[in-house]
Amino acid sequence: MTASRQFDIVIIGAGPAGLSLARTLSGSSQQIAIVEMQDEATLANPPEDGRDIALTHTSEKLMNDLGMWAHIPEEQIGTIKDAKVVNGKSPFALHFDSTGSGADYLGRIVPNHLIRQSAYEVVKDQANVTLLCGVEVTSVETNTTQGRVELADGTVLTTALVVAADSRFSGTRRKMGIPAGSLDFGRVVIVCEMEHELPHNDTATECFHFDQTLAILPMYGNKSSVVVTLPSANADAAMKMSAGAFADDISQRFGGILGKMTLVSKRYPYPLVGVLAKQFVTTRFALVGDAAVGMHPVTAHGYNLGLSGAKLLADQIVDAERNLTDIGAEAGLKRYEAAHRRVVLPLYHGTNALVKLYTDTSMPARILRDAALRVGSFLPPVKKRILHQLTHIERHAR
Ligand SMILES: Cc1cc2nc3c(=O)[nH]c(=O)nc-3n(C[C@H](O)[C@H](O)[C@H](O)COP(=O)(O)OP(=O)(O)OC[C@H]3O[C@@H](n4cnc5c(N)ncnc54)[C@H](O)[C@@H]3O)c2cc1C
Repeated sequence: MTASRQFDIVIIGAGPAGLSLARTLSGSSQQIAIVEMQDEATLANPPEDGRDIALTHTSEKLMNDLGMWAHIPEEQIGTIKDAKVVNGKSPFALHFDSTGSGADYLGRIVPNHLIRQSAYEVVKDQANVTLLCGVEVTSVETNTTQGRVELADGTVLTTALVVAADSRFSGTRRKMGIPAGSLDFGRVVIVCEMEHELPHNDTATECFHFDQTLAILPMYGNKSSVVVTLPSANADAAMKMSAGAFADDISQRFGGILGKMTLVSKRYPYPLVGVLAKQFVTTRFALVGDAAVGMHPVTAHGYNLGLSGAKLLADQIVDAERNLTDIGAEAGLKRYEAAHRRVVLPLYHGTNALVKLYTDTSMPARILRDAALRVGSFLPPVKKRILHQLTHIERHAR
């Protein structure tokens, strides 16, 4: 016999976005189910995935409010005080420091597996949340009166609102007929951690060389997160280099600034595909996290947008609860969609344009890159605007 269960909200995917949404609703009376195909032991102890997540001030504050920050060991939190953008061998570097950002640092940097773990820790004993782990969602449908989610073990969940937080390749988004535009950059990013002889002075550096982009992000101590973006055809060779040769290559590309560098983690390759859903909501259904927008990591906005979007959606749900109206009603979902898209669209398209400019090897593009750095360096309003985007995700009025 098929088991049937009723919830107010069903969240598909217990990644950082889905769990953060559930946590944001901890003070509400909504009964929430989170369905996750990984088992609970993996959620409790997520494996390292090489991603070190740069967090804005807004995200740090949200994570603090949600109780997640307290679960991240202090010695795993890096601080970015300065950031530099370098274009090939050009003498012009765009330099940002925290002056004018409202704090004495630009942002924090935390390993992704610890963000996932902290999100699980704050949700696992939350009274209004039921975690259904180790089971996949096989079908989703909604109509004007309810949503229906079927699981691989035959369980059927009925609900007022379905939220998909099941990654940028969201199967649920497809099942609900929401189209998404995607942009395959034809590149792979290899991420890893390296220790080095000399201090990084809490400076993040992005070097745009002509065949690859190299970002070095300061972690705790003499350790950095290294992010190498290169054409897909060259990624295999970089993955196959010995640890020593790879480290020497990175050190040399970085001009030896950090002295001898040593690889201290595995190398993790990620094919680069940006994804933007054409709409974020439909009948009794909403997308959050990467399922709504999967960003190119160069501007480090993915989880920052996941968190701010979860807060925007939670605000609508709490408003509906307070006004004793339907949490799955179209009007509230549309308000969430409009507010989140206002933040997402400029960042998504701006990031893609930046990637195009900085990976184009033609001479006009090289000149334009140099010009862009000069404009950024010498026009304080432009620099201030970029700085603000690096440190904050804006939340527009509801
Ligand atoms: C190399 C790299 C560097 C990055 N750096 C940054 C950075 O500096 N700053 C930043 O803000 N962001 C960064 N990001 C982005 C960030 O990692 C993502 O935005 C974030 O992890 C997405 O979280 P999510 O919960 O939306 O999705 P995911 O983490 O993809 O989680 C989705 C979950 O859904 C589950 N799931 C999927 N399908 C089903 C199903 N059918 N049934 C049940 N469960 C399902 C999956 O098992 C998974 O647990 C980076 C990303 C990469 C690749």
